[in-house]
Amino acid sequence: MEKVRFGKTELMVSRVAFGGIPIMRLSKTDAAKLVRETIELGINFIDTAHVYSDSEEKIGEGIRGIRREELVIASKSPAGCKKKFNENLDLSLKRLGVDYIDIYQLHNVGSKARKDAVLAPGGASEALLEAVKAGKVRFPAFSSHSIPIAMELMKSGIFDAVQIPFNYIDCDAENEIIPLAGELDMGFIAMKPMGGGLLDNAGLSFRYLLRYENIIPDPGIETIEEIREIAGIVEKNPPLTSEDLKEIEKLRAEFGHSWCHRCDYCQPCPQGIAISAVLPMESMVKRFTPERAAAMVGPAVEKARTCLECGDCMARCPYHLVIPKLLKERVAYWDSRISA
Ligand code: SF4
Ligand code: SF4
Repeated sequence: MEKVRFGKTELMVSRVAFGGIPIMRLSKTDAAKLVRETIELGINFIDTAHVYSDSEEKIGEGIRGIRREELVIASKSPAGCKKKFNENLDLSLKRLGVDYIDIYQLHNVGSKARKDAVLAPGGASEALLEAVKAGKVRFPAFSSHSIPIAMELMKSGIFDAVQIPFNYIDCDAENEIIPLAGELDMGFIAMKPMGGGLLDNAGLSFRYLLRYENIIPDPGIETIEEIREIAGIVEKNPPLTSEDLKEIEKLRAEFGHSWCHRCDYCQPCPQGIAISAVLPMESMVKRFTPERAAAMVGPAVEKARTCLECGDCMARCPYHLVIPKLLKERVAYWDSRISA
């Protein structure tokens, strides 16, 4: 598979990455086999996170015996402070069985409070830069769901790469983030290239994304068939057709009423409901184990049951989502899949 330059890191990475969320659902043996088969397809870029339960460990098993220099490994820490970050990083290294991680990301820096915490003296960003000096990390990066916060972090000069959702529905990154990444020569990882499992037409998703030379789509992979299909599309690199554009417009109209961009402009909610955690929950249910999904989003779903239908949030949502109705639908979905 073609390798492309990953911004100023000068790393040469495959045109598509392997996202390590769904392997949480596989046995250790099956996950390790999938990772090895993926690498045999020419995919050298593997992304995971400290909080994806045993994903790092399974990847560690899959890459055992493969020359370290042939791989570009990315992971993430949810820590805000230096102490926790260092604990996370050391455990990530141990689980992955490696001496260094190529791209280590501050995970989900999506709120002002989290951004302030990671950037504060003694915060995780300071620890990240120290880890680079110590040779444990090659390039500092972050992931986020918030366009304004991502822009701020990109301009801070601390990070070499950014990961943010980008697909033909969730395409806000197109206007400012992608041009800024180009200007700053930063690596760009497209999170949720298939909408976190909600967009099932891989051809359409990748034809859309491959028009951007400087972005690396990072789909979560659970089966060898999925990654073979994606690798096949990426290798052919077919152009986006006028039919595709029509289909995208149709799907945007369909999904536009229910797609939460996790921007949190709808907050605060008087009931303390984490709207942006509950609305995209279907994707989490599809990719995580039921136990992990329950641990991550269960409390937010319980809170969502207390919605007063006051509508305050709706008035603030720039995407005009009918939030109380959507919350009810998501709670019903949760009950049918997890609580049942
Ligand atoms: S409608 Fe429900 S979710 Fe929205 S602000 Fe009111 S209580 Fe919160
Ligand atoms: S409901 Fe609307 S305002 Fe709230 S996070 Fe989702 S897209 Fe943003």
